[in-house]
Amino acid sequence: LQQQLIESEKLSTLGKFGAGLAHEIRNPLTSIIGLTQLLKENNNQNKYLDIIIGELERIQSLVNQFVLLRKPTDLKAETCNIPTLIQNTVELMNSNAQLQNIDIQFDSPHSDLKLDVDHAKIKQVLINFIKNAFESMPNGGKVRIQLIGTPKENEVRISIQDQGVGMTEDQVSKLGKPFFTTKESGMGMGLAICFDIIKAHQGDIKIESEKGEGTRVDLVLPKEA
Ligand code: ADP
Ligand code: MG
Repeated sequence: LQQQLIESEKLSTLGKFGAGLAHEIRNPLTSIIGLTQLLKENNNQNKYLDIIIGELERIQSLVNQFVLLRKPTDLKAETCNIPTLIQNTVELMNSNAQLQNIDIQFDSPHSDLKLDVDHAKIKQVLINFIKNAFESMPNGGKVRIQLIGTPKENEVRISIQDQGVGMTEDQVSKLGKPFFTTKESGMGMGLAICFDIIKAHQGDIKIESEKGEGTRVDLVLPKEA
């Protein structure tokens, strides 16, 4: 499951520039890591070398994420049961939720709501939203996921609500911009990817947030894309 999470995180949207840059960084980085390991073999008294190697490997894994990923706009759409997709995603996140003292709740009014979507990408979007919700509540709390819509309506809404730190208006306006992050070790890529994926589905993302109160993210997907 953890592996699946990592796989999902691998998708990126920085496009040609980011991927190209990452690719160019990869080769010199590989050399530097190799040389540093050689230095360590010849001089294993030096306690700083382990730190340097650790940090270089961290950069390497970030860079790899950019290079390996497929474009968010290449959709492989197929008919998909949305409540099942959400349920599977929630199950994927359950162990993390428990560890972080988070109660994650999903109620679906319909068990048979179907849409043509790229289910792997929609799952990735949900994971990103749920992770952000978790990260907004360092002391735990509730995440509520609702599926709004009926099989007859021409759009479906998936709402994810947290009781976390919330955002200012200024922060909300920056959502979806690559590299916008307020987290110490954040990449600021998650929402940029999500916006691209949802746009490729002709859908929409609506965010309401209040500082200190929490955030509600609504994912709107059309019946016919
Ligand atoms: P990252 O999580 O790596 O910072 P994201 O693109 O997922 O990147 O999110 C960008 C920023 O948007 C976060 O750093 C945070 O400031 C804000 N944000 C996103 N979701 C939430 C949320 N549910 N509650 C509070 N802030 C949020
Ligand atoms: Mg995030």
